[in-house]
Amino acid sequence: MSSLASTPAHAPATTRTFLLLGPPGCGKGTQAERLAKHFGIPAISTGEMIRAEVRAGTELGRTAAGVMVTGGLLSDELVNQIVRSRLGKEDCRGGFLLDGYPRTVPQAEYLAALLAELGMPQPLVLHIDVPEALLIERTCNRRYCPQCGAIYNLSTHPPKKAGLCDSCHVELKQRDDDCEETVRNRLAAYQRSTAPLIEHYSGRSYVRVDGSGSPDEVFQAILAALA
Ligand code: ZN
Repeated sequence: MSSLASTPAHAPATTRTFLLLGPPGCGKGTQAERLAKHFGIPAISTGEMIRAEVRAGTELGRTAAGVMVTGGLLSDELVNQIVRSRLGKEDCRGGFLLDGYPRTVPQAEYLAALLAELGMPQPLVLHIDVPEALLIERTCNRRYCPQCGAIYNLSTHPPKKAGLCDSCHVELKQRDDDCEETVRNRLAAYQRSTAPLIEHYSGRSYVRVDGSGSPDEVFQAILAALA
């Protein structure tokens, strides 16, 4: 245990705190992993954080599990407490990357106060933006082989013979017949919930990165934006 544990924390000068925003299908998970590795900081998603509390059998975890069992939504208060517990852990002293939190402006305000309390810098918000048409194309061009489960993408990874699995030669299928509508609805819901958050952060450390390229190109664009 560090002797600093009970005194006000002094984060190392190189401490970096990031928030990652972006629509479903923008490749956030991949970029979160790469950034975490690049900066040697943990990438923390809300889901993992909650599951860790549940696994550890803490009071927070038991409360969260109880809410989730009944299909309820976790309150800001509960999610904030779980974030407080996670960010106070030793591996976050050099910084962290959050994915999926904050989701609301009150959560963003809680996070700002928590970071000030921990002596950590305010977050840099990385917004990975991808045009709706491209998100639809990426998601709805997916096909799978019902026999071997191989995944194809008509634009980025097409089968050698149109419509047929390369190894089984059976007809490829699409998982969701209403894919385009499903994706549009999901994006509309995402935009409604994220717009206030983007507005909240836009006057501060906020960087928007074009996420339309390959994972490598997007990662390079992020590093360039940070430089
Ligand atoms: Zn196959």
